[in-house]
Amino acid sequence: MATQEKRTRKMAGAHPTPLFTALLIDGELVGGLGVVEPILNPATGEVLTHIAEASSEQVESAILAAHRAFAGWSRTTPQQRADRLLAIADAVEKNADLLARLESLNCGKPLHLARQDDLSATVDVFRFFAGAVRCQTGQLSGEYLPGYTSMVRRDPIGVVASIAPWNYPIMMAAWKIAPALAAGNTLVFKPSEHTPLSILALAPMLAELLPPGVLNIVCGGGEGVGSHLVSHPKVRMVSLTGDIVTGQKILQAAAKSVKRTHLELGGKAPVIVCNDADLQAVVEGVRSYGYYNAGQDCTAACRIYAQAGIHDKLVADLGAAVSSLRFAGKRDADNEIGPLISTRQRDRVASFVERALGQPHIERITGAAVHSGAGFYYQPTLLAGCRQSDEIVQREVFGPVVTVTRFDELSQAVDWANDSEYGLASSVWTQNLDKAMQVAARLQYGCTWINSHFMLVSEMPHGGLKRSGYGKDLSSDSLQDYSVVRHIMARHGQHL
Ligand code: NAD
Repeated sequence: MATQEKRTRKMAGAHPTPLFTALLIDGELVGGLGVVEPILNPATGEVLTHIAEASSEQVESAILAAHRAFAGWSRTTPQQRADRLLAIADAVEKNADLLARLESLNCGKPLHLARQDDLSATVDVFRFFAGAVRCQTGQLSGEYLPGYTSMVRRDPIGVVASIAPWNYPIMMAAWKIAPALAAGNTLVFKPSEHTPLSILALAPMLAELLPPGVLNIVCGGGEGVGSHLVSHPKVRMVSLTGDIVTGQKILQAAAKSVKRTHLELGGKAPVIVCNDADLQAVVEGVRSYGYYNAGQDCTAACRIYAQAGIHDKLVADLGAAVSSLRFAGKRDADNEIGPLISTRQRDRVASFVERALGQPHIERITGAAVHSGAGFYYQPTLLAGCRQSDEIVQREVFGPVVTVTRFDELSQAVDWANDSEYGLASSVWTQNLDKAMQVAARLQYGCTWINSHFMLVSEMPHGGLKRSGYGKDLSSDSLQDYSVVRHIMARHGQHL
């Protein structure tokens, strides 16, 4: 065990959950040699531990280790890589209670939800890619020019720098690590500086399960460690889930060495509710999926367009339902949502709501205040009377805030839904399937749910349009993003 880790376990003292702080570089667990930063529990504000970030030399070592490891890992067979991914899935499953506890401590999210949702999804993602990489399909080989046989290969890209956000730390790690490794790449993974604990707890197991250098984990902030990774000439691809502004910076840096990029940026999901929708299903759906993870979700059902005939009842019923959301209680099982990740994020959410309520036409239905107890909680908030041009309708809040805008004609709602810089997720609620299919066809979003919202499965692609970015997570589409198509063409001899 690294000295740093021993020290931190001691510092964690009274805390029953072991906290791991060592980075993984070239198969070794090492303490960071960079700046030391506190890691907080957002549910209480307490400092859980301190983590030393990777120094510039350590980032360099991690990239070079991944570069060296590529020669061997890229030549393994899909079966061999699948075998390792299945072993990782088993390790995650076996340690799911510990990992869920760390996820809950580090994000403040209810433990039972972290265990039931985040950890199950993480295991499934590793298992899915273990299977998917063994049954990829592609174009037929053949003679497309007389005297020549053409065939297509799909090969790995090289060293991938994967940069993750803080909202679902272990699940985002799985979304990035599993397809990249399955496709034969090597990685340097950087968790969010706020939420490194779950992936660092997995690091000792990953060190046992993978050859040295295949997967390296370095901690640190975006401007330091993150931009070092993005600008390094030996990194051939950068995968980011994060903010639009971060995506723009990464594109600028990646342009210098012409790197492939895979960007999953923000969202502002429209929820179109027609007069003939099942109102109870809408209320239950938005109560769950507008506020899940305290709204810190790029697909959150946060922008409702309600048709005039259903609007008033929807606002009244949803207001009552949202005000019944349980959070910050002593008993974990009672809590439905957690806090925001930081005071900064909570203040950002509060200032969005404050500016919205400064508009005379916007009505507070429920919430709209910082929770008075400990932790970085913000009350689940519903605002009605919002207009298409309002900032609160246009910009991603990334907090427990849902807006309602009234519409008369369905075509108006579709136009408003599409009038957004974002293009990640959307939903339409109606009992008329024909209507639903027509709306789904016109929405410019990576995903449209019908009479539902939020559901993801490993087999189906997740990713955006417009400023929500490009590139797909999950599904065999993701394997394609992490690999490159190559054409092999053989000239025939004179044998036949
Ligand atoms: P963020 O952009 O601040 O940080 C994301 C990651 O990028 C972090 O690891 C950070 O350290 C790193 N980073 C920041 N600046 C960097 C730079 N200049 N160079 C390299 N790396 C840098 O985002 P966040 O606050 O952690 O997460 C919230 C955002 O993520 C929201 O906008 C949300 O919508 C988005 N998100 C999108 C998806 C999706 O699938 N589209 C999923 C989850 C979150």
